[in-house]
Amino acid sequence: MKDEEWADWVSYHGKLHRMSDKSDVEMMDLWRPVFEADHAGLQELKIASMAISGKTWRTEHLETLLANVRARRLAEQQRAEEAARMAQREIPCVECHNSGLVEVIHPQSMKDGRWVWPHYTAVVACRCSIGAVKLTQNQATRAQWDDEESSGKKHKTGRKVAALVTLDEYEKNFPTWKAMQIDREAKRLAEQTARSATKHADKTRGKLADPVKQIIERIKQRQGS
Ligand SMILES: [Zn+2]
Repeated sequence: MKDEEWADWVSYHGKLHRMSDKSDVEMMDLWRPVFEADHAGLQELKIASMAISGKTWRTEHLETLLANVRARRLAEQQRAEEAARMAQREIPCVECHNSGLVEVIHPQSMKDGRWVWPHYTAVVACRCSIGAVKLTQNQATRAQWDDEESSGKKHKTGRKVAALVTLDEYEKNFPTWKAMQIDREAKRLAEQTARSATKHADKTRGKLADPVKQIIERIKQRQGS
């Protein structure tokens, strides 16, 4: 926000809520970087100022303004995501099927170039526009968590979400993950085929004899006689 825009808002808010005192202006100047971190604009702040009523504490003013600005940010992000989804509706993304997220192999489940048990997966942001929106949302949620942490507030967002990595970054580190996935899928299919063929054999050819049990019984009989 430009200096004159900030001065404009301070005077607007000051007149509206009778906060034109020098100490109030100085206090509001401390709010500026907080609003700027959320990319608040002049019009947006004026609308947020108008939305305050029945609040007589300065703390309530700051919290209400912040809540307003952040609600608008969130709505904007949702709109952007929806727009990106609409734009891609015609050509669905082959990587993420328009979810914006791609399920990849968790690095902890990689051993000697193979995807090993317990076959953990991880999620990364796709290369497409929906993926870009997901990445922005992840960064915003993490920034909000940091804000809450530094202001000593309770975390609305619970635990801090892990930073989302992009598919490009992931592939730079694990370029052969897809081959690992294909290899694992082939093994899974082989296992499935083996199981169902064996089940079929049981069903069509009946139980096996148990020669070991027969031998043991014969020995017992001999010992007993
Ligand atoms: Zn995608």
